Amino acid sequence: MKKAIMELTRIVQAVSMLDTPHDQVTYIVDSISAILKVGACSLYRVDSNFEAELLASHGLVSKEQIKLPAGVGLVGLVAKSRHPVNVADAASHPNFYLLDNSNEEKFKSFCGVPLVRSGKVIGVLVVQSKFQRQLSQEREGFLVTLAFQLAMIVANIPSLSTQPSVWDKHSSGIVGSQGIGIGNSLLCMGAQLKDVPDAECEDTEAEIQSWQDLLIRTQAEISSEREALGSQIPESVAHIFDAYSMLLSDQSLINKVKEEILLGHWLPGALRLSINFYCEIFKAMDDPYLRARHEDVQHLGNKLFKTWIGNDESSANLAANYAAVVLVGAQVSVSDIAMIPAQKLAGIVCFEGSSLSHTAVLANALGIPAVMGVGEPKGLHSGDLIIVDGYNGEIILHPSKLVVREYRQLLKKNKLHLQQLESLRDKPAISIDHVSICLMVNTGLLADISPGVKSGAEGVGLYRTEIPFMVRDSFPNENEQVEVYEQVFAAYAGKPVYMRTLDIGGDKQLPYFPIHHEENPALGWRGIRLTLDTIQLLITQVRAMIRASGNGKNLSIVLPMICSITEVDAFNELLDDVCEQLQSDGFEFHRPQVGIMVEVPAVISQIPFLSNKVDFLSIGSNDLSQYLLAVDRNNARVANRFDHVHPAVLHEINRTICSAKSAGLGLSLCGEMASDPVAVVILLGMGLRQLSMSAAMLPSIKSLIRLLRISRAESLCEQALRLDNVSAIRQLINIELREIGYLNKPLPAI
Ligand code: PEP
Ligand code: MG
Repeated sequence: MKKAIMELTRIVQAVSMLDTPHDQVTYIVDSISAILKVGACSLYRVDSNFEAELLASHGLVSKEQIKLPAGVGLVGLVAKSRHPVNVADAASHPNFYLLDNSNEEKFKSFCGVPLVRSGKVIGVLVVQSKFQRQLSQEREGFLVTLAFQLAMIVANIPSLSTQPSVWDKHSSGIVGSQGIGIGNSLLCMGAQLKDVPDAECEDTEAEIQSWQDLLIRTQAEISSEREALGSQIPESVAHIFDAYSMLLSDQSLINKVKEEILLGHWLPGALRLSINFYCEIFKAMDDPYLRARHEDVQHLGNKLFKTWIGNDESSANLAANYAAVVLVGAQVSVSDIAMIPAQKLAGIVCFEGSSLSHTAVLANALGIPAVMGVGEPKGLHSGDLIIVDGYNGEIILHPSKLVVREYRQLLKKNKLHLQQLESLRDKPAISIDHVSICLMVNTGLLADISPGVKSGAEGVGLYRTEIPFMVRDSFPNENEQVEVYEQVFAAYAGKPVYMRTLDIGGDKQLPYFPIHHEENPALGWRGIRLTLDTIQLLITQVRAMIRASGNGKNLSIVLPMICSITEVDAFNELLDDVCEQLQSDGFEFHRPQVGIMVEVPAVISQIPFLSNKVDFLSIGSNDLSQYLLAVDRNNARVANRFDHVHPAVLHEINRTICSAKSAGLGLSLCGEMASDPVAVVILLGMGLRQLSMSAAMLPSIKSLIRLLRISRAESLCEQALRLDNVSAIRQLINIELREIGYLNKPLPAI
């Protein structure tokens, strides 16, 4: 049986190589019956009503699709009880049900185990033998173990009765950013040098010659790519190419590869060893900047390897072949997004991540539909047509013409609806009972400045400064930062701009300043903790913000991840210093207002101490929910437990609003909660009057406010705060959204 356990890994690996669901399930049942030496192995999918559908069988045969009504037979029993059933004589069991005309009468024993995903039974795996003998404990254990892996596969298999082929392959994930995108997929991964196996080189001279050719080819590719992209990509991204060029001319790397070849390694192997060697040297350096250079070396290694295998087409080059592109990858990085011309980017699909990962936040900011946590879809190749349904958190791979037509119609309807919303642009966000709400945008990329302005935002409620830092290959200096920030102030002249100091760490890493070796990065060196420790960065940034705001009085500085008053005191002292410096440097400026993010729960109880230390509070509902619920905002496995209308989050936000009022502090909310209509009704009912969200969602939230009575929101909020679960809260508010006509709009999710 030990061998059988090893077989388990083999089955899972083999299945991952198969393209169609039909091939996958057939392989699974054939392999299991061979390993366990049983006559029949069958895999059923179970729906939410406990109806079972036979996906594949080795041993049972039928001309028609086999379906079992809810709870029928031993399969139904396994599904309902969520427990294995293992019997020697199935026919004598009270729940026995014989599948007619299926050959089942030949089999005596029955062992069925449930396939469970996110706490729900989604399938049943059954083995049956011709002998009246119970399956051994060990074999039953093998099936249970296998069922864990199979659950993942079965969850992604479409209904066989309606989808007989690879067409219209649905994969479910989580909504990352709403909207519908149709385009050709562009994979953000490619060959990895680290996976290259060892192999001997037969002709060292020829291999050294290949190395020299490869260097020339790669250099040429890098400079032509840079040239081709120069005008389309931000200068900051273009600098990355220069860094690669410099590394490529480094004699020590060139010689190291030669040495490895002379020791008998083939070129890719020599390259892998040399790149590893330099990575380790960089990683061991004390200086964090130099330590971070190991990532450049790694990227360069992959680039050389891709050139060697001959498929190193850059994303932007590949994108040129298509009218619309969907970026697909385990994780899609900011630079991946920056590489694609904005008008071509139709969607983003991440195999990992959740609705609150920064890729999703960025997609929201840009109004690009995104689906997260779909797992790795089988049979996906670059260029395949893919539909991103950001309303339902689904992707459809290889959609049929019919499905594409349906989605195109939906897209058209949405466009129309968005045009209607655009007509609200210059109208105020004012409720039916005349309460004005200030709606602002969250931004961070220069590319999403204009959508914010177009959406009619009253200012920037959150400028995430880490985003311009992320798309570079080194820290921007003061003048470079001034240049970027000035564009924000120019676009929002005279309007408030809340700029947050660098919030890196946790899931937001800079490519040139990676923070390694943290067991719990979300609880680690992040936000203000990091910038107060690297004070020179913070001083430069604050100077740049103040200089960029010039004589305007519209800059407010927001501090991320504040958890104690001493951090606020330290920042205020730093601000005094910076203001003195700027004055003696001859700059004219206004001292900015200062506020903190309320995202670490600990700070809520300390709001009374803040009344004469800061001017305002900004609730960061994404992190506040993450920390209150102890649910990682980036972990797809627990994403279904993340909901910012969780009673605990609502009560803490209510407490924050009351404390802010007593302390006389301004208050806004800038997490993704501000674009969730259900949450917005409750927040307005609590008395919040300033919200900041992605530009793409702002018109829709404005339309909601214009349909709402605040007095009604207040009474609904009171009721919501008395409820003990998310579904009841959502149900309560959704009834109101329907009644006021908000949920009947053409956009599916609003
Ligand atoms: C938040 O935590 O809600 C927030 C707005 O900050 P970020 O999403 O950038 O962490
Ligand atoms: Mg945050």
